[in-house]
Amino acid sequence: MKILFLDQSGKLGGAELSLLDVASAFSPNCLVGIFQDGPFAEALAARQIPYQVLTQAPIQVNKDSGWADSLSSIGQVVPLVATIARLGRKYDLIYTNTSKALILGALASRLCGKPLVHHLRDIVSPEHFSAANRTLLITAANGCATHVIANSRATAAAFVAAGGNAKKVSVVYNGFLPQAYQTATESTLREDLGLGNRFVVGHFSRLAPWKGQHILIEALAHCPESVVALLVGDALFGEQDYVETLHRQVEQLGLNHRVKFLGFRSDIAQLMQACDLVVHTSTAPEPFGRVIVEAMLCQRPVIAAASGGTVELITHGETGWLCPPGQPQKLSDLICHSHRQPAQTQGIAQAGYHHALAHFTLETTQQALHQQLAQVVA
Ligand code: UDP
Repeated sequence: MKILFLDQSGKLGGAELSLLDVASAFSPNCLVGIFQDGPFAEALAARQIPYQVLTQAPIQVNKDSGWADSLSSIGQVVPLVATIARLGRKYDLIYTNTSKALILGALASRLCGKPLVHHLRDIVSPEHFSAANRTLLITAANGCATHVIANSRATAAAFVAAGGNAKKVSVVYNGFLPQAYQTATESTLREDLGLGNRFVVGHFSRLAPWKGQHILIEALAHCPESVVALLVGDALFGEQDYVETLHRQVEQLGLNHRVKFLGFRSDIAQLMQACDLVVHTSTAPEPFGRVIVEAMLCQRPVIAAASGGTVELITHGETGWLCPPGQPQKLSDLICHSHRQPAQTQGIAQAGYHHALAHFTLETTQQALHQQLAQVVA
């Protein structure tokens, strides 16, 4: 099966990290078309997955854009659609991995007559998309996609609630290579980072207001001095103001000695293993939450904000803890509970690990995707 994958980003967000794993199963009979050069292109090259940067100028429409912005980007869109349609003729299927890729891929699939599958990795709701963008996305999916694969039941439900055709959607969870999260050698990261024997809470996510790093910082102020936080991730999509707000918040709460900003890192498994607890704090519904499963595979206990796909990953009090989103005091109570109850915490980390091994392996995901894509091509 020859697949033309499309993704709008040059950065390494969760959608792109997931696509690396999906595309590698179809390589070398595939091409990943991206709309921007950058670290994603480097990661594709490192895995020897064929890729092409399809345009040098990123499309100036974001998730909050209205109709006027969308229309003004037409000058960029037309040549890009023509390029995709020309490439598409050489492949059996166009597979879109992000929302802008869907809009352009939908038009191109009409031009070249090849089927389109959209992998929906976003919650299509007002918290995440403007009304104009929701309409565009749903119209493109309903009108042009043969099939829509959602990365969680929450993502599928939001798609249908926004007007998406329920008959086109199926759910395939993200999959992970368990061995990538088991490091053989004893890491010196805790010493290198000067963490000593403090209780280390890790947060792994790009810095963006809805990812809720500010909730963890506020929660930390209610925890004992021995609890410290590592914030791993950078602002990937221009959220520089938020980064400054976070630094100010740390300063104002007098937490400089208890919060470390590590920026974007690629040694996620080692860093998670250096933590005593991993927290996820999104304030809007999370489509899936890769970091939750990654922490489970690192045998680390997780607290996640109970909204969107996260409630499908964790059973509260068994395989992790769920916390109401946007409530620092509740988060702090759970962090302190985990700190005080090491035996229970250890049991939860083990149960989470076995749950992830049973439900979220890359092998299972690749089999499901292969089967669904083969049906579309047939
Ligand atoms: N991640 C990373 N380096 C960082 C921060 C995050 O590689 O510094 C990875 C993280 O391990 C996870 C992904 O980025 O695999 C984020 O995926 P998630 O589904 O949690 O959120 P998204 O970015 O898709 O909203």
